[in-house]
Amino acid sequence: MNDPKTLADRIEDLLPQTQCTKCGYDGCRPYAEAIAAGNANYNQCPPGGAQGVARLASLLGKPVIPINPDNGLERPRAVAFIDEQLCIGCTLCMQACPVDAIVGAPKQMHTIVKDLCTGCDLCVAPCPVDCIAMIPVTGEATGWDAWTQQQADEARVRHDRRLARQTAERNAAEARAAARRASTHAQAQPGAPADVAAAQASITQPASAPTDDAEAKKKAIIQAALERARRKKAEMTEQGLGPRNVEHVSADVQAQIDAAEARRKRIGIEPDAGAGNGEKHDVTRNDDDQSAR
Ligand code: SF4
Ligand code: SF4
Ligand code: SF4
Repeated sequence: MNDPKTLADRIEDLLPQTQCTKCGYDGCRPYAEAIAAGNANYNQCPPGGAQGVARLASLLGKPVIPINPDNGLERPRAVAFIDEQLCIGCTLCMQACPVDAIVGAPKQMHTIVKDLCTGCDLCVAPCPVDCIAMIPVTGEATGWDAWTQQQADEARVRHDRRLARQTAERNAAEARAAARRASTHAQAQPGAPADVAAAQASITQPASAPTDDAEAKKKAIIQAALERARRKKAEMTEQGLGPRNVEHVSADVQAQIDAAEARRKRIGIEPDAGAGNGEKHDVTRNDDDQSAR
């Protein structure tokens, strides 16, 4: 019986799925496709380590070669840890995480779900206050000795789900923008023929009902999460455990927070009534917070 899998599929099956991009590609699947197409060597995945290279060499009928040091070193696996006392809730780490292993809400503390973290490091660089540390958790074990096939399979599912969600969100945003353009165009042309107006209505109307339902549900879920986070923040503040640097951030950090808030407004999420009591962050201070980085 023929194996329906392509060579890229079989290569991808052998990769660790941390989605770390250390191979030079935007995740394990693009790297697998590049190897299959002959555009990348099979020794560019540090998380897979020497054993990973051996697996690929066996599949490809090639010799075992060392990991290319330009792609990084094989090392014990780490998981990310957020210092919640420093976190300013900018959401940049959540946006960077390829497997949705970070939970939080804008202006609230963020937390890593340890069991979901692949140790990819991708959340570390975007954090404007350097409050994410990578903590090794596998002792001396590296590569596939530090990472199971089940963990790889689960990370792959989460990554695929995230990509599908991002594609759906992008498509929905494009559809809304197209509907708005069509509506604006129709209003600018009051004498437009009825069939054109009907066509415009057919573009906007059928798509809007399910989208509205999904949007409303999504907003309700996010609002509930925000409310839970707000309550937690209030409790921690009462105990003197709240984030310390929320109110005085640098201009750079403030700009990133403003961008995150603008995105929230675009998707229609209500501002968090309890977060900062409507205060605007002090954008004039640009010394202590940044020098602490
Ligand atoms: S685990 Fe990282 S380096 Fe290895 S293939 Fe996947 S994205 Fe590339
Ligand atoms: S939490 Fe950070 S290190 Fe862990 S998977 Fe997400 S981006 Fe990677
Ligand atoms: S401050 Fe750092 S840990 Fe907190 S949400 Fe922003 S990027 Fe994530």
